[in-house]
Amino acid sequence: MSNKFPMKNKYNHSMEVKRKLSKIFPMRVDTIYSTRILSIIKVLKAESQQVLYDAGISLAFEEFQGIEAQDLSSALAQIADLYMNNSLGKLVMDGAGKNFLLVRNYDCATCVSAKNNGKTYCWLDAGFIAGALKQMLNEDYVVIETKCHGTGAEYCEFLIAKKRRVEI
Ligand SMILES: [Zn+2]
Repeated sequence: MSNKFPMKNKYNHSMEVKRKLSKIFPMRVDTIYSTRILSIIKVLKAESQQVLYDAGISLAFEEFQGIEAQDLSSALAQIADLYMNNSLGKLVMDGAGKNFLLVRNYDCATCVSAKNNGKTYCWLDAGFIAGALKQMLNEDYVVIETKCHGTGAEYCEFLIAKKRRVEI
């Protein structure tokens, strides 16, 4: 009997074989997401910033649909929970100025594979935070990543500010 799909069976290993294989070829679950995002950034170049930011907003709109928050700090706490539960990082408040907030993301899944080349990489996360805040608070925020593995920091830092309406 001919096997039309040999690839399917090729990887149908027993648990014992899988365990042996994972010792030889460790699953890089902690970096594979980051490697893929960085590849998208490499291909899209400068365009990647807006594309990933908008993708983050779109994703957050779906994830936080129907969820409301009383204020900014409880909205951020909900985003931090989602980050923690999905191994995307440990999001913590870092400080606040008159018109802005700073949050840090430790162990960020997006930029863990990034080299220190002076760039920030977590546009998807910045957009996601902005989108989640819009969804929960019904207010427009701008989120800018100011520190990243790509800039040599040990954590990512995001500046969060309310979007000002420009009146003409
Ligand atoms: Zn980052």
